[in-house]
Amino acid sequence: MLVNLTDVFSSDGKTVTKEFPYEVSELIYEGEHFSVKECSPVLVKLTNIAAKKVLVEAKVKLAVLLNCDRCLSEVEHVFDLQIEREVISPDKATSEELEEQDAFMEGYELNIDRLIDNEIMTSWPMKVLCRPDCKGLCPVCGKDLNTGACGCDTFVPDPRMAAIMDVFNANKEV
Ligand SMILES: [Zn+2]
Ligand SMILES: [Zn+2]
Repeated sequence: MLVNLTDVFSSDGKTVTKEFPYEVSELIYEGEHFSVKECSPVLVKLTNIAAKKVLVEAKVKLAVLLNCDRCLSEVEHVFDLQIEREVISPDKATSEELEEQDAFMEGYELNIDRLIDNEIMTSWPMKVLCRPDCKGLCPVCGKDLNTGACGCDTFVPDPRMAAIMDVFNANKEV
């Protein structure tokens, strides 16, 4: 979606609010695809805060299916985004400012999808867990340990501890 900002750039104190449908079915993050379960419309507020300067505020909420880092089960993650960016009219912006807003501005037009995309990428969760105490998968047989133990011997004793245990067992036999 492109919104032309020319009018807001040149009208002192002007505020415009708009609502757009936001329809994405999947997100791609680091080469992986994730399906979007639900998304709210995008609410956009444009305010002229100085000559040729507009404050862009955008709100959108989307529920995405991610995978638990430990057991790989599906986890619904909600991105509740509240974006705020100051944008300067291209005829007044310095080359540095132009570069900064290049990610979501195309000349005098604001690219809402790209603004949201950038925000999603920067707010992607570092860690995804289905629950804080997820037990993960058995490293031997791959069973989901949240559903019960599998009986595999995954105990790797510390070699020093093993030596003490040997002495202990030897004494016990006497
Ligand atoms: Zn899990
Ligand atoms: Zn196992």
